Amino acid sequence: MSYTGPDFEPPQPRRSPLRRPLTVAIAALVPGALLGWGVYAAVAGPDDGGGGGADRASGARTSAAPSSDGPASPSAGPKAPTGTSPSPTPRKPSPSASRSAPAGANGPLKGKVVVIDPGHNPGNFRHASEINRKVNVGTHWKECDTTGTATDAGWPEAKFTLDVAHRLRTLLEEQGATVELTQDDDRPYGPCVDERARIGNEAKADAAISIHADGSGDGNRGFHVILPGSVHDGAADTRAIVAPSAELGQRIAGGFVRVTGSAPSNYVGGGTGLVTRTDLGGLNLSTVPKVFIECGNMRDGKDAALLTSGDWRQKAAQGMSEGIVSFLRG
Ligand SMILES: [Zn+2]
Repeated sequence: MSYTGPDFEPPQPRRSPLRRPLTVAIAALVPGALLGWGVYAAVAGPDDGGGGGADRASGARTSAAPSSDGPASPSAGPKAPTGTSPSPTPRKPSPSASRSAPAGANGPLKGKVVVIDPGHNPGNFRHASEINRKVNVGTHWKECDTTGTATDAGWPEAKFTLDVAHRLRTLLEEQGATVELTQDDDRPYGPCVDERARIGNEAKADAAISIHADGSGDGNRGFHVILPGSVHDGAADTRAIVAPSAELGQRIAGGFVRVTGSAPSNYVGGGTGLVTRTDLGGLNLSTVPKVFIECGNMRDGKDAALLTSGDWRQKAAQGMSEGIVSFLRG
């Protein structure tokens, strides 16, 4: 998601090829490492205060972690970057209307509102001038929106984010939540990042999540959750949401690693899967607990094989859902 626009990751450091020989040796340690990370995720304090995106991975290794690469997946459709579309989303028939009544009306999340922000928009690339328009994000002005990244085979991040958003919406509605999407491919481009935040604010969301996949270098793998740092500048004031957003993010990261088996990013977050940033308009302008999740790196072949798998995307959505449910139930 990053290389096309400034609302996203700074350029990521390439992993050293010298690390590659370690992969096999460390593979045996991965389950333990994940367990350890899970424990960390369960008990870690809020806000690591880190300079998001700037810290490199330390010892955490992910190359050998997710073993269910593309072709192993049993469900229909080509998995790996074959140049064709990944397996389609099993969608319930639904209008493009953003807000929908919960299906599990008496579920545990009855009365809770979740706003899901599918990053980017499949039409953004046709509207360069509109999405390049600057909007105020409190701390500074930045582009309305960006096109997002894509796999090497050309499958766009904006399709990925919508697909996962639909799956997550279904899961949360089954729990009784009222779910609103910031966009559902029902507008030609955008919305701008300030409006994406505003939608969550106006919905008085109990939790909001912006779904992305990264566009980093080959060999950079794994997911990370981006937490809002403390910002108080102009229209941005995140001070009240820093702590609850950190809690939300930690629970989502825990659910994600548990269900997908994916390891935290090996290139940002120091192996924690958590990164704090103060430059994202979608977070800076939020007044409700909100995080971003970068589900993997679309430019890495192994991560791309996962991201293009419908089975894996379902797990990703399930992991997020479990984290959100845990957060909302307290
Ligand atoms: Zn993105």
